[in-house]
Amino acid sequence: EKKIRRIDSAKDKSRAREKDSERLKVEENVFDVPTLKILYTLSNKGVIKAMGGAISTGKEANVFYAEGPDKELAIKIYRIASSTFKAMDAYIMKDPRFTNIRNNKRDIIFAWTRKELQNLKRAKNAGVRVPEPILAEKNILIMEFMGEKEVSYPLLKNTHLENEEAKSIFDTIVEYMRLLYKKANLVHADLSEYNILIDPNNLTPIFIDMGQSVTLEHPNAREFLYRDVQNILRFFSRYGIKDKPEELFKKIQVE
Ligand code: ATP
Ligand code: MN
Repeated sequence: EKKIRRIDSAKDKSRAREKDSERLKVEENVFDVPTLKILYTLSNKGVIKAMGGAISTGKEANVFYAEGPDKELAIKIYRIASSTFKAMDAYIMKDPRFTNIRNNKRDIIFAWTRKELQNLKRAKNAGVRVPEPILAEKNILIMEFMGEKEVSYPLLKNTHLENEEAKSIFDTIVEYMRLLYKKANLVHADLSEYNILIDPNNLTPIFIDMGQSVTLEHPNAREFLYRDVQNILRFFSRYGIKDKPEELFKKIQVE
C-alpha cells in the first residue's frame, strides 16, 4: 500500500516538475495501466524501493531514476501507445534470436526490451562497460543507474575534453567495439556521442542504449558497424583523431 502510493506520488512529482504540456502527454502514454501494474508488482517484490523523476524522454522510451534495495536504478520504459515501432522492424525481424515474435506492436516492443537486456548482458560478459542489466518485464527494462546522487553521468556529447583525454576515451571505445564484435558477437548499431556516457571519476566510456544492437548473423550487421565507425570518427575528428573509417572498420573485425 505505502509503496504503491510512493510510486504515484513520484509520478505526480515528476509531472509537477514538467509543466510543458507535450511532456505531460508523453508521461500519460508511459504510465498506462499495464505498465503501472508491473511497477507495482516489482515494488511489492522489493526490486524497486522508490520511483524518482524522469531522466530522459526519448523517441521510443522514457528513462526514470529509482532506488533499488541496494543501489540506484535506471528504469527504461518503452511506450506502447506513442511508439514509432516501425523503425524497430529492420533490427529485430532479421535477428535469429527473435524469429518467432508475432508481428504486432506490443510483442515487438516486448521482444525489443528483452533484446536490450540480453545485449547488455552479452556486452558486460565481453568486458564492455555498460549499466549492469537487472531485469526485463514486458516493456520495462531495469538496469544499474550510471551516475551519482540522482544525476546521470554526462553524455560524451556534453563533455569538454583535452585532446589527450579524448584520445584515451577514443581508444577505449574502439576496444569496446572490438570486444563487442569479437566476444559478444554484436554490433551496437546506434553508437555515437549520444549513446556513450562518460564516468567523470576515471574518464572511461560507458555504452548505453543497446535495444537495436544486432548479432553478426544479421544481414546488415557490417553496414551498421561501418556507420558506428563513421559516427565515432566524425565526433573525434574535432580532437585531431584522423583514422580512416575503412581501416578502423577492418581493425575491429580482424584483430
Ligand atoms: P530511444 O532511442 O528509444 O528514444 P533513448 O535514446 O531515449 O531511447 P537511452 O539512450 O537508453 O534511450 O537513454 C536516454 C538517456 O537516459 C541517456 O542519454 C542517459 O542520459 C539516460 N540513461 C539511460 N540509461 C541510463 C543509466 N543506466 N544510468 C543513467 N542514465 C541513463
Ligand atoms: Mn539513446
